[in-house]
Amino acid sequence: MAQAKGYAAQSATASLAPFNFERRALRADDVAIEIDYCGVCHSDIHTAENDWGGSRYPVVPGHEIIGHVTAVGSGVSRFKVGDIVGVGCMVDSCKHCQACNDGLEQYCLNGFVGTYNGVDKVDGTITLGGYSDSIVVHERFVLTIPEALDPSAAAPILCAGITTYSPLKHFGVKAGDKVGVLGMGGLGHMGVKFAKAMGAEVTIFTRSESKVAEAKKQGADHVVISTDPEQMAAVAGTFNYLLDTIPVQHDLNPYLTCLKYDGVHILVGLIEPLEPAVHTANLVMKRRVIAGSLIGGIPETQEVLDFCAEHGISCDVEMLAMEDINEAYQRMKKGDVKYRFVIDMASLKKAS
Ligand code: NDP
Repeated sequence: MAQAKGYAAQSATASLAPFNFERRALRADDVAIEIDYCGVCHSDIHTAENDWGGSRYPVVPGHEIIGHVTAVGSGVSRFKVGDIVGVGCMVDSCKHCQACNDGLEQYCLNGFVGTYNGVDKVDGTITLGGYSDSIVVHERFVLTIPEALDPSAAAPILCAGITTYSPLKHFGVKAGDKVGVLGMGGLGHMGVKFAKAMGAEVTIFTRSESKVAEAKKQGADHVVISTDPEQMAAVAGTFNYLLDTIPVQHDLNPYLTCLKYDGVHILVGLIEPLEPAVHTANLVMKRRVIAGSLIGGIPETQEVLDFCAEHGISCDVEMLAMEDINEAYQRMKKGDVKYRFVIDMASLKKAS
């Protein structure tokens, strides 16, 4: 066992606060990592505040982890001490079902183990995430960070990146397609970059007038203010795909009408019942589809890291000291982050 320190929420209403705990001793297939950076995902807030139910306290959030290897188990072949590596949203799965064999560990038939708030398959402990100075992870779930990527800006690729890249690729976005990205936060701004890199014409749907100029700087061809009915009506029936990153319940109906026939509305942000209800005429009359997508498998996560290195894609990050995490959560709830907070773990180490 090794001593670790981090920040944890002790209940759904408590602020995050310093927390000391132990990381497990290395198993044969484990990689020990000293964490340098960790991105802040809206899922961290959902889990810390128990929005989805099932949070197990203390919650140490964080699943966009970049660090360097400090030790490896006797059976580890792919990593050595000093390598710059990443850990995303999963730290284990059954590793032998059809989904795992297909490299789709996020859909493991026996359930994957989340980087935080998961249950370790070997010892039954609750997993604690990347708002901490170290982590121990099975090598299958450790990613190689290409040298061309700036490690701090690469952290969000491990969740925001893969979550947007995977469905765009799966549903076959190609040159000339019209893609709308709903919500310009951590996921949304990455979705714009990937859809552009795949050759699509990209529109950002945002509530925030203040993001119009920046959406264009990010590469969006057009911006629609989603709260303006006239702007929404002007794009009715025009999109092949909508990538919906909005993290709260919202009316899908006005967005569905923006899709062309056969258009696909891909939900990645909402993991709750739809409210208000979808009027099925918005699907039936144009053979439209509502789909969902969860992060991406480990091979595809490595693929998106390599894709970012090859295409010069990185996240727009705002560096954060660990002690400012509660303020960062408040700002994220207001949509006030451009476009991903990344915690510099040097701040946590200094605080000791
Ligand atoms: P952010 O907070 O960074 O961004 C969300 C954006 O959605 C905001 O910037 C805002 O954009 C828009 N938004 C926020 N509130 C509202 C609202 N009330 N109505 C309309 N739009 C709103 O979140 P993330 O990008 O980190 O995460 C987005 C969601 O995706 C979260 O729910 C998260 O849990 C989920 N997620 C899902 C994954 C999956 O595998 N499916 C993986 C990772 C995250 P604007 O100001 O432009 O309107």
